[in-house]
Amino acid sequence: MRRSWGLSLTAGVRAGPYLPCRIPRPMLDPAEIARIFEETGALLTGHFLLTSGLHSEKYLQCAKVLQWPHHAEACGKALARHFAAETPTLVISPAIGGIVIGQEVGRALGCRAIFAERENGALRLRRGFSIEPGEPAIVVEDVITTGGSTLETMKVVKSHGGRVLGALSVIDRSGGKATLGSRYHSLWTLDIPTFEAESCPLCGAGSSPVKPGSRK
Ligand code: ZN
Repeated sequence: MRRSWGLSLTAGVRAGPYLPCRIPRPMLDPAEIARIFEETGALLTGHFLLTSGLHSEKYLQCAKVLQWPHHAEACGKALARHFAAETPTLVISPAIGGIVIGQEVGRALGCRAIFAERENGALRLRRGFSIEPGEPAIVVEDVITTGGSTLETMKVVKSHGGRVLGALSVIDRSGGKATLGSRYHSLWTLDIPTFEAESCPLCGAGSSPVKPGSRK
């Protein structure tokens, strides 16, 4: 008796009607990244409190881009090329923002992808994750503003005896001013003004900042 599994030739490759673009592009230049951020509604305007403690009128909600696996994959591939020659065996990201893109960079490089989490304010390895002595590692983030989380993640690698090759992020919103003391590449560099809370013109105008990471 012939059994039908109800599968069709197109199973698994069907796209939702709202999927902006299904085909990962081989090259992602800054103009293309900007277009993807625009298309996915990832560039927000308002009054935001950044992880760094600074305030800003613009926020890049990278998760809105990375929610699309084909965009995440394309970004991961484009970033991974920068360190392919050094053959890192570990990608490490600060949770939560860096996890998805770290996974994709790890996939592109064919190596492990782990993450560090905040516990009592400090980043550390949990979940049985470990780093081998001398293991060549790269730190991968979604967005770098001051580079603070990236530097802290580098310290985690070093404290476990690993070797930091450098860092990657989808977005560098420091305008290239973040100093990481290591090789660093991003897909898109933007110079978005940030303000100390005391001198923030948006606070001065009477509004209160929102934490976009936790915003619904
Ligand atoms: Zn403010």
